[in-house]
Amino acid sequence: MISMKNIIKKYEGKTVLNDISVDFPSGKTSVILGPSGSGKSTLLRSLDLLVRPESGTVSFSDLTVNYAEPINKKDSFNLRRKTSMVFQNWNLFPNLTVINNITAAPITVLKQSKAEAEKNAKSLLSQVGLADLEDRYPSQLSGGQQQRISICRALAINPEYILLDEPTSALDPELETQVLKILEKLAGEGQSMVIVTHNMEFARLVADKIVFIEDGNKVFDGETKEFFEHPSPRIKDFLSGIS
Ligand code: ATP
Ligand code: MG
Repeated sequence: MISMKNIIKKYEGKTVLNDISVDFPSGKTSVILGPSGSGKSTLLRSLDLLVRPESGTVSFSDLTVNYAEPINKKDSFNLRRKTSMVFQNWNLFPNLTVINNITAAPITVLKQSKAEAEKNAKSLLSQVGLADLEDRYPSQLSGGQQQRISICRALAINPEYILLDEPTSALDPELETQVLKILEKLAGEGQSMVIVTHNMEFARLVADKIVFIEDGNKVFDGETKEFFEHPSPRIKDFLSGIS
């Protein structure tokens, strides 16, 4: 489980995360929802130190980091190792083939042998239906294929959690479906995930829990069924697209 407590993040004096405490259970899919600018990406990025909050703590089972204090190199390395982020714009390395994109971190960070890393990469590629594309370069792939490879790359380092920030928002609907199917499969296999998405249908389908934030405040934290079936007036407005 990831447990965030009392997270405060400010940008230029403006509070973007206002004392947020939230748990992301392991083996489950947690979905963060909220209007644009509400702080979803900031919250997700606070988990792997892409964003450094002013205060608050984040705990995994065996590691607690206090953002208000200096973070030593070992803790910051260990914290980053626990998660792997999939970005909106599938930032693959353009000069590396598909297989080398996936094996780069396992070889350099995990010190896997090339043979071992390639074996794992091939197995991941076949799981997402792209085994025949291993020698292509990113520019020779569709957006949906690139995003599926980004997911393989995130999984290749065996993170405890994968974090996804609007993984399909840059894709057209057909390609979006390809990627969502992979995520649905991972959710079914019990991969721990935290996903920011604007796709309500998908959230309803895969989320074990929903966290709704607005203006940096946590407005809802609970079961998916309750969120969609018994929404508060505010959430009702959000779901109907009013805001
Ligand atoms: P969206 O749905 O549009 O992606 P979001 O919920 O992910 O929005 P964040 O990106 O977390 O929102 O931003 C939260 C607030 O923090 C916004 O008001 C944004 O303008 C502000 N913000 C984000 N990053 C920075 C930054 N680097 N410098 C200053 N302000 C920032
Ligand atoms: Mg965002």
